[in-house]
Amino acid sequence: MFYIGSHISSSKGYEAMGKQALKLGANTFAFFTRNPRGGKAKEIIKEDVDRFLQLAKEHSFGKLVAHAPYTMNICAAKEDIRKFAREMFADDLARMEYTPGNYYNFHPGSHVGQGSSQGIAIIGEVLNGVLKEDMTTTVLLETMAGKGTEVGRNFEELRAILDLVDLKEKMGVCLDTCHIWDGGYDVVNNLDGVLKEFDDVIGLSKLKAVHLNDSMNPLGSHKDRHEKIGEGNIGLKAMGQIINHPKLQGLPFILETPNDDAGWAKEIAMLREMHKEDKA
Ligand code: FE
Ligand code: FE
Ligand code: ZN
Repeated sequence: MFYIGSHISSSKGYEAMGKQALKLGANTFAFFTRNPRGGKAKEIIKEDVDRFLQLAKEHSFGKLVAHAPYTMNICAAKEDIRKFAREMFADDLARMEYTPGNYYNFHPGSHVGQGSSQGIAIIGEVLNGVLKEDMTTTVLLETMAGKGTEVGRNFEELRAILDLVDLKEKMGVCLDTCHIWDGGYDVVNNLDGVLKEFDDVIGLSKLKAVHLNDSMNPLGSHKDRHEKIGEGNIGLKAMGQIINHPKLQGLPFILETPNDDAGWAKEIAMLREMHKEDKA
């Protein structure tokens, strides 16, 4: 099964997100658990979620890939910012249980000068505080481009975080194609090698989702500027190889490309056309 979708606004609730996904031709999607800049989350209405779960079942949706707010930095230097982030994280995980068994993706954070090993230590500690034995959500660390003081700039840093977590089965990784390209992983000329490296360092069983984005910048630029599919430095051919790679089948592919709804619908249709199984 090929699961493809984009980010969808959560402002009108769950059923509205499901209907919007269908309109775009998607069978998975990403959404912000609250305003991407942070702040208080909207109240969840049980009936709305139930209508969504029914719709998702009828249309065989894949796993959803919820996204934590960009501003959530659990390894911030200041204790009050860290505390705020921890509370937001715990609250989001409680909210995720309304839609059981999906993914919650977050940016590991920025160490803001404390050094990446200190950042990694704090992230591990926070995860051990918020993960619960009885939760059904899998929390995903996103691979980052390595701009500024971002933690998670390479596979080794993500592995180091995962090693610190006690409830290991609650954790996974979301691979962002723009971020790893900007981070220096050549998915254009050496996709097999990059996936082998991921397997050697982290283990492919931990790879749960892909953010499918082209990049405005060259390999290793550490910039993090997403481009439309096929219009950036990764290019359409490599995108086709990524979505068709045998080791990536069955994963949800989420577009975070600079588009409006029409643009996403077009990209989804194009990628479905390029996916071998979908054409068969
Ligand atoms: Fe992200
Ligand atoms: Fe991403
Ligand atoms: Zn990005």
